[in-house]
Amino acid sequence: MIFCASSIKLTPNTTMTKAPELTKTKFDVRRIIGKIEGKHPGPCIIFFGSIHGNETSGYLALKRFFDPAVTRNISNKLRGTIIGITGNIKALNEGKRFIEKDLNRIWTHENLARISKHPELFDGNEYAEMRDLYAEINNILTGGATNYYFIDLHTTSGSTLPFVIINDSLQNRALARFFPTPVVLGIEEYLEGTIMDYINDLGFPAIAMESGQHDDMESEDIHFASVWVALVAAGCLKEEEVRGYKAHCDRIRFAAVAEKRNFYEVVYREPVNANQEFVMNNGYSNFHRVAKGETLAHKNKKEIIAEYSGRIFMPLYQSQGSEGFFIIRKINKIWLRLSRFLRKNKLEYVFTVLPGIQIKPEERNVLIVNKKIAAFFSTDLLHLFGYRKVRINGSKVEYVKREIPQYTQPYYLKTEANKQQ
Ligand SMILES: [Zn+2]
Repeated sequence: MIFCASSIKLTPNTTMTKAPELTKTKFDVRRIIGKIEGKHPGPCIIFFGSIHGNETSGYLALKRFFDPAVTRNISNKLRGTIIGITGNIKALNEGKRFIEKDLNRIWTHENLARISKHPELFDGNEYAEMRDLYAEINNILTGGATNYYFIDLHTTSGSTLPFVIINDSLQNRALARFFPTPVVLGIEEYLEGTIMDYINDLGFPAIAMESGQHDDMESEDIHFASVWVALVAAGCLKEEEVRGYKAHCDRIRFAAVAEKRNFYEVVYREPVNANQEFVMNNGYSNFHRVAKGETLAHKNKKEIIAEYSGRIFMPLYQSQGSEGFFIIRKINKIWLRLSRFLRKNKLEYVFTVLPGIQIKPEERNVLIVNKKIAAFFSTDLLHLFGYRKVRINGSKVEYVKREIPQYTQPYYLKTEANKQQ
């Protein structure tokens, strides 16, 4: 594992420089921001910018990276391929998070099964954007790379230091560890239909890099530095092949220095429906400590009280969004090591000696448990083994984890294809 070492004494930068009002102007936006093919075989690394249209930072950082003046001679030493993709083009042009639907909440199994069968029926802006992205991703995955890595570049509505957010799998953790920031895992229990979900279901690592607040000019710089860090993490370039690699690492670490490189776990989500008025109390920045019983926000003028002590995470300070805030808690290092040992050695098989428990034959990452036995399962135990999603299927409970082998197609698309035959 390569970490970015620093000999420079850094202090946190607390001032925010506001970015110019670019979001109101029309960008000449293309789906593929840039593509560089290396002279040597290797992995393919794919960056998404502005899946949320009001988050211009990712798109602008990728535009900057793919400028020929920046990456002029890179292909001689590059192993594999680098691709930059724009997310929500129309919303980016209009400076909105989305037009009709959140593009990062519609990658559900149902929609993916439907899109593979009847792409022509997908109308409305975000479904059309999803259809394009789906086709691009499928096209890229036929390219014969040694592996595929996906980095989704985001920013937040409230002030924050940079952080990485992942679904809890070992390969996501391994990729996230390269970034000198805190890592938050377990988001899959609380969010449905993210593009990361889709990629992880395919068996490839996919992480989101949140660089700062939407309007902070620093956010773009940190995304730009993150692109270089990700290239080294994926093995496309060696540290010594990136000019100023240490400075890129320091750029991110400097912004994140107030928070150590701890791992956190999501323990609570405050949902917000489209017809609800949500107002977050002022003064909460990301990772701000909160105590159980503290008033955090108002929903339809009713007080929202913290149900847990922990840290506030991604408080909503904009009009669009379906999560008011999350609460996260620090994860013990021993838990991280133990969970890695159990998952690497596939010790979930010990469960199957018990009656009423089996591994699902067509989905090896799913544990099927009789409902009566499921009552004795603790969430903490399941999390340790990587099972974070729960599905009810008749008299059975299905626990789903992310540690899955790479498929050419996830099971729900295979099932749909079988039905058509
Ligand atoms: Zn976002």
